[in-house]
Amino acid sequence: MLELVNRGYVYRASSISQEAETYFRQCFGAKRKMYNLHVAHLYDYLEKSNYQPEDALPSLKKMGMPTVSQFKKQCLNEDNMAYLYLVDAFAANEAKQHFNKAITAFNKTAHKRQYKKSALKRQKTLGIEPTFHDLKGMPKFKSRKGSKASYTTFNQNGTIYIKDDILYLPSAQKSPVKVVGLKLNTHRPLPQDSKIKHVTVTMNTKGQYDVSICVEIPMEITRVGMPNRILGLDYSQSHFFVDNEGKKANYPYYYLEMEERLAKERRVLSRRVKGSNRWEKQRLVVSRLETKVANQRKDWLHKKAYALANRYDMIVVENLDLRAIGQNKYYAKNQQDNGFGNFRLYLKYKLEQRGKYFIKAPKKFASTQLCSVCGHKHTALKGNVSIRKWNCPSCGTHHDRDVNSAFNLKHYGECYTKKKFYHRSLGFNAYKRVAWSPNSTSSLV
Ligand SMILES: [Zn+2]
Repeated sequence: MLELVNRGYVYRASSISQEAETYFRQCFGAKRKMYNLHVAHLYDYLEKSNYQPEDALPSLKKMGMPTVSQFKKQCLNEDNMAYLYLVDAFAANEAKQHFNKAITAFNKTAHKRQYKKSALKRQKTLGIEPTFHDLKGMPKFKSRKGSKASYTTFNQNGTIYIKDDILYLPSAQKSPVKVVGLKLNTHRPLPQDSKIKHVTVTMNTKGQYDVSICVEIPMEITRVGMPNRILGLDYSQSHFFVDNEGKKANYPYYYLEMEERLAKERRVLSRRVKGSNRWEKQRLVVSRLETKVANQRKDWLHKKAYALANRYDMIVVENLDLRAIGQNKYYAKNQQDNGFGNFRLYLKYKLEQRGKYFIKAPKKFASTQLCSVCGHKHTALKGNVSIRKWNCPSCGTHHDRDVNSAFNLKHYGECYTKKKFYHRSLGFNAYKRVAWSPNSTSSLV
């Protein structure tokens, strides 16, 4: 079946004109300025409306937020702010969307509203009461320094196109720069028949420009039908993942390897005068090492996901809250080094591209606690990660914690298949209601 698929292609700009660079910096600035205007209005509103920390933030309409164009008009009277009119209108509009997202995210965490640790410390030592500014997740002002700069622009009837390795981007009506050209290092061409949807321009910490081009490609996808080879993957802190066959991924801990060298270079950086030429030189050294680790990790993850996606028809993983693990002081560094979240994303699109299945078992499914032989729920395992091996109190089977869990996930995939292909009358989402049925493990047909 021919399907339209969105794919991103990232290229680095090989050279950039002074004119284009100024324009991009103005775009980044306009986006940040617009975001900060929104935040300022929010703070103003909260102060006036006697906001209580446990309250949800109101909608933009309720707080009387001006529209983007009203903000722009306000800025026109200020010095140096006329550039908001000279850049791509998408940049400023994007800020509003991001602000909206920040509000939604803040309201979602209402059940665990907390003050920042620093604010609590200040309260204890200096006696300064924390305010709504100190709430975790509250939208805050973006700084010009230290943040990655980017903006996204959309293709409107061919306003974005590539010709002779030069990417042409639209600019604003009033801008003196009519069309912005960016010479790209096109190490691989865009696929044939692809249509550019939108482009994100990013400036990294080294001042290099990258563009991520999102294209829509018509792709021939053949569905595999009933999956034969099903794999369950259990996330593991020490081995990245363990599958139901007992195989371990053995992630080479790139950050751990580089840590000593990074610490040394960062130490040198900390001793140099901030902002000096030598400091700048050293900053690039540190930045290069960090990028290297990130690239190594990405490379490994892609290769691993590629191999699995080729070999199996269906892969089942747990629906883990990786963010929660990342906040645990014992696991954080390890978890942030391995990039399991990205791995799941890669796996998903690689499988779907091949017409295969990627399944996340729901959080309710206790893959770790269930015995894969008899289905007994061994609740002693809950929250106790120190038990690596255990005996089932019901049937006496000796289990390896990770392999057992992976096996349960595989079983979940089998249940899913069963419901999907043999009991259609239950409806497509019926697998959600599938209870644990241990005796049917291998009796698919
Ligand atoms: Zn058992």
